Amino acid sequence: MIGDRKQNLKNRRELMLEEMGLTPVWRLRSDLAAAPVSDNGVADEVESTSGKAPITGHRSPITGGDDRRATIMRMEWPGLKQAVASCVACPLHAKRNKAVFGVGDENADWLFVGEGPGADEDAQGEPFVGQAGKLLDSMLAAIRLQRGRNVYIANVVKCRPPGNRNPGPGEAAACEPYLHRQIDLIRPKLIVALGKVAAANLLASDASVASMRGKVHDYRGTPLIVTYHPAYLLRTLQDKAKAWADLCFAVRTMEGLHGGKAAVAEKA
Ligand code: URA
Ligand code: SF4
Repeated sequence: MIGDRKQNLKNRRELMLEEMGLTPVWRLRSDLAAAPVSDNGVADEVESTSGKAPITGHRSPITGGDDRRATIMRMEWPGLKQAVASCVACPLHAKRNKAVFGVGDENADWLFVGEGPGADEDAQGEPFVGQAGKLLDSMLAAIRLQRGRNVYIANVVKCRPPGNRNPGPGEAAACEPYLHRQIDLIRPKLIVALGKVAAANLLASDASVASMRGKVHDYRGTPLIVTYHPAYLLRTLQDKAKAWADLCFAVRTMEGLHGGKAAVAEKA
């Protein structure tokens, strides 16, 4: 029975990957070991790569400064969510439809951090629900993770930058205490920064994604790895194999953190 269930899960995953045009690239190493790689050899290649006003409630003015940060850093989930929903700390608040707080398991081992909401996310109030989100879900599925199950997904900025431009430094700085507090509350074992904006903000570095991949960085004591943003991968198909290598590296890193096993098992 358990075997059947596993097989069904595997088939579902493969169907999803096929739908996204991701097979055979997005395949776990264990699957590769178990079954010969069929066609174009990509998988083989991949396999070998190794303020100052207090925050008092709805639409309260939130200005910059240490007091604001300190206030946010004391918030628990409900207060934090409310603060983001009513935040006016940077100009991005003016055109948002919904602030996009973040979604998932608040005790997750895995935290994926993107850049900021796009049009779909702004409409729905959830991160990564558009095309890039579908690819992110496939990337998660490829390492046997699922949105909401031991995974949390958040963004550097919680409100949509108009026209999908990158968030400006002032906007990212204004929003940073929220992500910082989310990370403190979640206490993930591993952070995966998706793309340059996430990596640059979390690591305070202007380095390229290409130069930051394949290493374990540190965000305030939490291991962090960098990979390409799914929206970039949708435009740059040839880098999908590298992103897959990064996910394998993330799984291995997580395995190391667990002392050898159960990389994607849920927290006890
Ligand atoms: N891109 C991001 O960086 N985040 C989202 O939530 C959606 C698209
Ligand atoms: Fe506030 Fe962040 Fe939205 Fe700016 S992007 S208004 S700092 S929640």
